[in-house]
Amino acid sequence: MTAVFWFRRDLRLQDNEALTAAFDSAPDGVVAVFMFNEPDYQELEGIRQHSLTESLRSLSGDINGQLNIVSVKSASEFAERLIQLCQSCQISKVFAMQSFDPKGVSEQKLVLEALKVESIELQLIGSAYAVLPGTVSKPDGENYRVYTPFFKAWSQLADVVPKSLPSKPKWLAIDETTQIPTPSKPSPLKVVAGEAFALRTFERFIDRALDNYDEDRNRADLSGTAHLSHALAHGEIHPRTLLARLGDSKGHEVFRKEIAWREFYADVLFHYPHTVDDYYEPRFKKLRYDTGAVADKRFDAWCKGETGYPMVDAGMRQLLAEGWMHNRVRMIVASFLVKDLHIEWTRGAEHFEAHLSDFDPASNSHGWQWTAGCGTDASPYYRIFNPILQGLKFDPEGDYVRKYIPELRHLPGSSAHEPWELFDGYANGYPEQIVDHAQERNESLARLEELKNLIS
Ligand SMILES: Cc1cc2nc3c(=O)[nH]c(=O)nc-3n(C[C@H](O)[C@H](O)[C@H](O)COP(=O)(O)OP(=O)(O)OC[C@H]3O[C@@H](n4cnc5c(N)ncnc54)[C@H](O)[C@@H]3O)c2cc1C
Repeated sequence: MTAVFWFRRDLRLQDNEALTAAFDSAPDGVVAVFMFNEPDYQELEGIRQHSLTESLRSLSGDINGQLNIVSVKSASEFAERLIQLCQSCQISKVFAMQSFDPKGVSEQKLVLEALKVESIELQLIGSAYAVLPGTVSKPDGENYRVYTPFFKAWSQLADVVPKSLPSKPKWLAIDETTQIPTPSKPSPLKVVAGEAFALRTFERFIDRALDNYDEDRNRADLSGTAHLSHALAHGEIHPRTLLARLGDSKGHEVFRKEIAWREFYADVLFHYPHTVDDYYEPRFKKLRYDTGAVADKRFDAWCKGETGYPMVDAGMRQLLAEGWMHNRVRMIVASFLVKDLHIEWTRGAEHFEAHLSDFDPASNSHGWQWTAGCGTDASPYYRIFNPILQGLKFDPEGDYVRKYIPELRHLPGSSAHEPWELFDGYANGYPEQIVDHAQERNESLARLEELKNLIS
């Protein structure tokens, strides 16, 4: 008995329950396939192309080069190719992890239905989460819309036992070409990815930072976080593997809570799929946002890290240079775009999607909406981050800012956050502020008042 395993956002062998199920049901071996959507790949920025390529290269190496990368233009073409493969190998069962985001759901529905017509079964098992999205519910059956009670209920249900893989998995070779996709765009840095790297990264995090995670996680200048978001987004590691290693100390508990934020957003997106690119709180659609030439110019400055606000610019340049940004800084730059530049969160979310190697539809959309004030949390719209004070607090010596902004490297300590205070602050060409924060804060509050009057 043989089967096909369709790798999706679970590019790993360990702690992969769908893969274990495939081997359990197919003692004669498993054919590994990956749906490579060529047009989607070509649209990605260089760093995301390189990330995916490296993840696939690593996985392929882990299964002796037996990963069949099926290059297609659409999910329906993939379904056709999968049917041909199953029929030529006389396989009647395909295993895969279940997706819960809108794109993944529509792809799996399409493939499932196409296979069914040919009497081929698609078994969807497990997910990228410790609790399947859609399962945590209030006693009355409703889903949670606020994080804290979700976390309490989620903690009771979270699966923290990693799943084992059969000791000698047998991968079957087929005649498909198994070319690892070659990126068409350059990457600003050499990407390292894959399951082994993710596991090593996690071990290093346990040794160096987990115990102090509660204290250090907000500091942009320290390496106080796990740097596992890329691995989680590509499924190179499962949250179970992380949760299984946590104890009860403060640092461990706060880390558990961050893992649960990812699960909360996946759950919210599952219940409200339109929020992947639309408002969770629809009334904020009516807020007055800036568009047109001036807004475009400001948006461009924000994307390039040339707003004249050091903490914002350092974050945006980190994104371009590394395809990653510190969580605190993501909030600062997002707040700046929406509340200082009055540009809709969706534009920022699209820019993040293009550049983040850890892009995740649920965390990105809801991270943005939380910061913009139109998302799940009770965080009021009038909470507006001050980019200068945030910089001084979360990068107190200015090291983060100097690392990403060469024009500020001559400024010592925290003065890098306030070049306008120094006679030589602009000596190396750092741009002046494109807007005045205090003024734009008032403008934001005035627009909120306008909205309140509009809908009351
Ligand atoms: C505007 C905005 C956009 C974001 N977009 C994404 C995205 O596309 N992909 C993504 O993975 N995360 C996103 N986040 C969440 C967060 O910034 C990253 O998960 C985190 O910075 C990843 O770094 P880390 O692995 O070192 O995190 P750690 O602090 O070590 O946390 C461990 C893991 O917990 C999860 N996590 C931590 N914080 C959050 C959070 N606030 N929301 C959801 N999950 C969290 C992540 O999976 C992370 O890898 C976004 C946050 C904001 C404010």
